[in-house]
Amino acid sequence: MPEPLLRIAIPTPLRRLFDYLPPRGEVAWLPGQRVRVPFGRRQVIGVVAALAVDSDLPRDRLKQATERLDDTPLWPAELLALLTWAADYYHHPLGEVFATAMPVALRDGRAAEPVTQLRYRVTEAGRTVAPAGLARAPRQAALLGRLLASPDGLAAAQLAADDGDARGALQRLVDRGLAAAESLPWAPVAVPASAGPALNPAQADAVEAVAGATGFAPFLLDGVTGSGKTEVYLQLAARTVAAGRQVLVLVPEIGLTPQLLARFRERLGVPVAALHSGLADGERLNAWLAVRDGRAPVLLGTRSAVFTPFRDLGLVILDEEHDASFKQQDGFRYHARDVAVMRASRLAIPIVLGSATPSLESLHNARQRRYRHLLLPARAGGAVAPRIGLLDVRHRPLKEGLSEPLRAAIAHHLAKGGQVLVFLNRRGYAPTLLCHDCGEVQRCRRCDAHLVLYAAGRLRCHHCGHERPVPPRCPACGTGELRPVGHGTERLEQHLAEQFPDAVVLRVDRDSTRRKGSMEALLERVHNGEAGVLVGTQMLAKGHDFPGVTLAAIVDADHGLFSADFRAAERMAQLIVQVAGRAGRAERPGEVVIQTHCPEHPLLVQLVNEGYPRFAEAALAERQATAFPPYGHLALLRAEAVDGDAPLGFLTAARDAARPLAGGVHLLGPVPAPMERRAGRVRAQLLLQADQRAALHRLLEAWLPLVEALPAARKVRWSLDVDPVELY
Ligand SMILES: [Zn+2]
Ligand SMILES: [Zn+2]
Repeated sequence: MPEPLLRIAIPTPLRRLFDYLPPRGEVAWLPGQRVRVPFGRRQVIGVVAALAVDSDLPRDRLKQATERLDDTPLWPAELLALLTWAADYYHHPLGEVFATAMPVALRDGRAAEPVTQLRYRVTEAGRTVAPAGLARAPRQAALLGRLLASPDGLAAAQLAADDGDARGALQRLVDRGLAAAESLPWAPVAVPASAGPALNPAQADAVEAVAGATGFAPFLLDGVTGSGKTEVYLQLAARTVAAGRQVLVLVPEIGLTPQLLARFRERLGVPVAALHSGLADGERLNAWLAVRDGRAPVLLGTRSAVFTPFRDLGLVILDEEHDASFKQQDGFRYHARDVAVMRASRLAIPIVLGSATPSLESLHNARQRRYRHLLLPARAGGAVAPRIGLLDVRHRPLKEGLSEPLRAAIAHHLAKGGQVLVFLNRRGYAPTLLCHDCGEVQRCRRCDAHLVLYAAGRLRCHHCGHERPVPPRCPACGTGELRPVGHGTERLEQHLAEQFPDAVVLRVDRDSTRRKGSMEALLERVHNGEAGVLVGTQMLAKGHDFPGVTLAAIVDADHGLFSADFRAAERMAQLIVQVAGRAGRAERPGEVVIQTHCPEHPLLVQLVNEGYPRFAEAALAERQATAFPPYGHLALLRAEAVDGDAPLGFLTAARDAARPLAGGVHLLGPVPAPMERRAGRVRAQLLLQADQRAALHRLLEAWLPLVEALPAARKVRWSLDVDPVELY
């Protein structure tokens, strides 16, 4: 019997495995072990995908693997099989799928063992310090705020990476006894468990339905904002943990983890691990190991946490299931919701998908009785649903985007002590600059896009990151004066601060929350009642609790009504309902004002008068008529190149190769991408549409090897997106 060969998955765009001879002396091999191998001129880290006896190459031409990195497989057999399924389903190279599924530290070849770190933790004295005591030391105050928000403490490496000068301030906190430094292999801490509130009947029914399920059981937990979905999650998690099994909780945004992490810890009284992109590599590895080895009964994480190994996973919860950020938009383009459902199915356990505005896909699954539909109709604690009003702004003068009735409504709510949320989905000061003489707008040289004006006097491209100062005169005609056109969040913030000088106006968008910890600091100022007006982008609409907000205003609802994307209406409706959900969550009744030039638009009217469920029903009927998801199945082949003709040339050749295989699959295009030029590259796409999922995947299976072999493929960068969420 000859020595077995190793069939290795290597992170490269090539859709195949590579055969190697095992390193000398190593005998016991299992799929899922990492191995270092020579690849071209480099040494790379691959994963054993299978063992084989024969190779296409004779043995004496095979290279020998350099070393084995793991004594045992990284993943249990269940997860290894899921990853292999995901590579097949998304038609993505297995080596890249494996790499996506591991923490960066393992990708870099570190041992799968806990990492010892220097960490800082807040002390009892630090917990009770009066904020005024640190007023003259803003850096110490900011660091203390971050430590307070992190019950596990924070790694010194992470703090130094975020702020190069943090060390001095940290030492002063330690000297004053407000923080303590410790060096240890991290493990999540447990705090004493606390009892939860009594459930209302709908919540109790939901808990019983999930807890009483056996085998694979998918649930859609459809509850209006404030109806107490989190309470259902907590009770279910508590029961699962009490039964000795583990829980995976997936959320769309890092910003949502601190609040939720604290709630799970306080309620369950067991170690809760977190995994998201805001952690240092060592912290991520430690959390991953704590879950794999069963030391952390609960894991809370964003998208890629769906691939974490568990010792005994008993329940999956996915909150805000409609959120597009569960879909990875580059590289391995998986959808964490769909992968989570598949994982639950393979493990034969329940999964709960929660949302106040479920995706049309999940609603369809519920109507088809593939998911059980659990409804939480009432707002918990007896809070009243907000009044939603469409404000017709036609013929009304707008001052910096605000109409007089909206200004008056803001003044009214502020006078009564309420907080106000003003929503505008455009960052920066103004969408662009226009020449008053020749009409030229400031465009990005590398993209088909305007440059966005910032208050700091800079022009910035939101697509490629290009940035330059505002020119003193119009560069096109040499004389014209440049004027800002339209409104962004910075301009609105400025205007509101002038209009309401007695109120604190805060802005929450990607620009104001770029620094780590800044989002938590902003939220803290909202919760302690300091902020009067909050101006922000869709970040504000995502699951945050603002109990003091009594008025939520959408400055411009028209933007989402006229988009080419087939999901635009669904997104707009979800956004409006989510923004509306921020108002009046406690005992105070809330009000929602939507400014629009289209008060008769059927989508808006239906949404406002009849609510999201009726809107969704109409939207599903429209999808059915056009055979778009969830009634049809899509894949998108994208290509881009510096050479302007190459993408369409490649996609045309790819389409021609698909025609003889098409069998029930429609080939739409190729066409230029909606934004044709981005970062100096020309982009185009070919859409594949099929009524039957199986037909689409049969075609992809046979077609991709032909696409890979096309001579035109060497002139472009191309990618395949199965079940695309964005069609550009
Ligand atoms: Zn000009
Ligand atoms: Zn650009």
